[in-house]
Amino acid sequence: MPIDPKFQKNRTKVGTETDIAIWGPTDPPETLGIRGTYVAVDWDICTGCGACLETCPEQLYDWMVTPNHPLSEKKAFPARESDCVQCYKCEIECPVRAIRIIYPAPAGWLAWLGWLTFILLFLQLPGGVIYGVIFGPSLSLQTLFYIGCVILVLGLLFVFSSLMYFRRRGKPVEGRGVMATTVLVESGTYGIVRHPQFLGAVLMMCASILISQHWFFVLVGVPPILSMHIWVQNSEELLIAKFGDDYKRYMRRVPRMNLFLGILRAVERKKED
Ligand code: SF4
Ligand code: SF4
Repeated sequence: MPIDPKFQKNRTKVGTETDIAIWGPTDPPETLGIRGTYVAVDWDICTGCGACLETCPEQLYDWMVTPNHPLSEKKAFPARESDCVQCYKCEIECPVRAIRIIYPAPAGWLAWLGWLTFILLFLQLPGGVIYGVIFGPSLSLQTLFYIGCVILVLGLLFVFSSLMYFRRRGKPVEGRGVMATTVLVESGTYGIVRHPQFLGAVLMMCASILISQHWFFVLVGVPPILSMHIWVQNSEELLIAKFGDDYKRYMRRVPRMNLFLGILRAVERKKED
């Protein structure tokens, strides 16, 4: 039986070992529980094969001795789990599926910003569109209303295409969401801009303003639009750590979110090919 993917909900944290969480129940030497929060290893499944130690590019695992455990007398210990770059190699390689990699949730002020962005986005986006369609645009500028509709469709295309390309080309880990990619995606909309999903969200929020033409949707739309810069920056740091030089090369080839520059470069590349 693989590690419980919802162990943080289903189990209780019973202590720490050199700052790494221990999730119970534990009753040594037979029952040892799970070690780690973001790189979690179920010691009651681990056979001590060493595949994760060999495969981890960050070398964040150490051996720990576990005398008299029925499966093995040493276990993989995620000693430096904060160094994890989310490559999922260990999770894929583990023959008994004892490892679960968990995307770390934003902490501190970033967590607050995340919630604020989420709330404003879901208030502004459908709110502005529904308002504009039902009551008509506040300023009665019909041309802007139709431009907004076109931009809304474009934004939707960017968001959904990004998910589609993640699924088709990103080789996500089996049984995980599309975000758990193992391969850098550089084609499709990812060949035009590096963050089509964020660009799509910005386009849709701008569309909501144009469709509603109401000051309220401008007010609630500007903060999440501006905050996208922070989320993109944050995501780029993780992607550089995860894909290394490949991502830096991709950064030189494809612009971050500049749609016009991205189309221009894509056309130039096509001509060169
Ligand atoms: S996901 Fe990658 S970096 Fe993280 S622990 Fe596993 S192998 Fe190491
Ligand atoms: S790959 Fe799995 S079974 Fe092997 S040592 Fe690592 S956690 Fe244990």
